[in-house]
Amino acid sequence: MQNYSVAELLQAKHILQEIDVKGWVKTFRSKRFIALNDGSTIKNIQCVIDFENTSEEVLKKITTGASVHIKGVLIESKGQGQSVEIQVSEIIILGESNPDDYPIQPKKHSMEFLRENAHLRIRTNTFSAVMRIRSVLSFAIHQYFMNNGFYYFHAPIVTGSDAEGAGEMFSVSTLDKKNPPLDENGNIDFKEDFFGKETNLTVSGQLEAESYAMALGKVYTFGPTFRAENSNTSRHLAEFWMIEPEVAFNDLDANMDLSEDFIKYILNYILEHCKDDLEFLEKRLLDEEKSKPMIERSELALREKLKFIVDNNFKRVSYTEAFEILKNSKPNKKKKFKYPVNEWGVDLQSEHERYLVEKHFKCPVILFDYPANIKAFYMRLNDDGKTVRAMDVLFPGIGEIVGGSQREERLDVLKEKIKALGIDEKELWWYLDLRKFGTAVHSGFGLGFERMVQFATGMTNIRDVIPFPRTPQNAEF
Ligand code: ATP
Ligand code: MN
Repeated sequence: MQNYSVAELLQAKHILQEIDVKGWVKTFRSKRFIALNDGSTIKNIQCVIDFENTSEEVLKKITTGASVHIKGVLIESKGQGQSVEIQVSEIIILGESNPDDYPIQPKKHSMEFLRENAHLRIRTNTFSAVMRIRSVLSFAIHQYFMNNGFYYFHAPIVTGSDAEGAGEMFSVSTLDKKNPPLDENGNIDFKEDFFGKETNLTVSGQLEAESYAMALGKVYTFGPTFRAENSNTSRHLAEFWMIEPEVAFNDLDANMDLSEDFIKYILNYILEHCKDDLEFLEKRLLDEEKSKPMIERSELALREKLKFIVDNNFKRVSYTEAFEILKNSKPNKKKKFKYPVNEWGVDLQSEHERYLVEKHFKCPVILFDYPANIKAFYMRLNDDGKTVRAMDVLFPGIGEIVGGSQREERLDVLKEKIKALGIDEKELWWYLDLRKFGTAVHSGFGLGFERMVQFATGMTNIRDVIPFPRTPQNAEF
């Protein structure tokens, strides 16, 4: 007997004697046909039971969700819908699944219901397809950087620098919550805490990545980041994964080139390697679209949408140009935007980003040279003294998917900026050192991994593209 995965069996070119396969029952009909799946592919293999020679007791236990060990022969199928099937010689029930209790029945469940059953939702076709694509996408990301001379850099998860400025942080402490030690001013004395100072979960590995880029040249991080922002949107998680390349000697143009090339590579990779799962998700979306009014329907099917990104140049537009477009746009004049665009310098909201991408340019957009006062302190100041070399990549349906910049490499300018913000220079002593010793032009960006998985799979809610989402009021599992 030889062990096979369902994927291997479905690809077999000839009859296979004495095969062994283990998996879970998807459906069982007419007391004869098991649709078996083991996670290796979205497709099931049909296993045909010889029910006259199978005891009533065993037949009763072949229910949706049960795990089984099947022995038999792989033959050409006479039925429709599959080219091969297994003629079962023996079936062993490994783990029963009581159909009265098992939540994942072969029918359509709501996404909310499945989130409440996040430990079982991976057994549905939709979630298994999404999570296989998530896995392949991760591999493609590593492959892209490895092919291009980058080193994988592991940024710390617990950080002592509170000047990252990317968002609200979660604190990490072992102090007694009920009775914390206090200093002479009555504040919590973090000197007595585990690390001897206040520490948090990281919101970004960028500052540390800059240190490594200044010696290894090209590095990238790919790890979890945490933001305690109370934004209950379909695009925000409290724990999400971020990819952050950081490259010595790259200016903003090279940074934009890198983001575009990288995104095209990984999307093309899944188009080539996740055909079955994408086909399934595409069909799922088309079914969903049918219930929407005509004007809300998407013009492109999922794979066409991905291909469109791969095949077309991203439109590069300065903040100032974008501001003019938005200011003079119909929705702005008709006061349709929740946040009106009147004064140069306003931060752009996702409604504005989506207008630019979906209505105006109808392709991915890279916005650059943002007003300094709406961006982080470490972004390089332009000669105009009021804009910085920032860039955001905006995607249809998602809005911002990448945020990045050329970093300020001039010590004096950086010090000025820090001072103006009221940040204590001492807090950033090691970051300033990078500008004292062998400073160089350098750039990088952060890509939100889940937003990319959302785009790649067409899932509307970010909670459905990470295995166990962490959001406000929710950390079950
Ligand atoms: P946004 O304005 O959408 O909240 P941001 O400007 O705070 O994002 P950055 O600090 O630039 O985001 O982070 C880089 C990338 O990380 C973003 O472009 C986005 O793809 C992703 N990202 C940021 N915050 C979250 C979050 N809470 N959940 C998931 N992804 C996120
Ligand atoms: Mn951003």
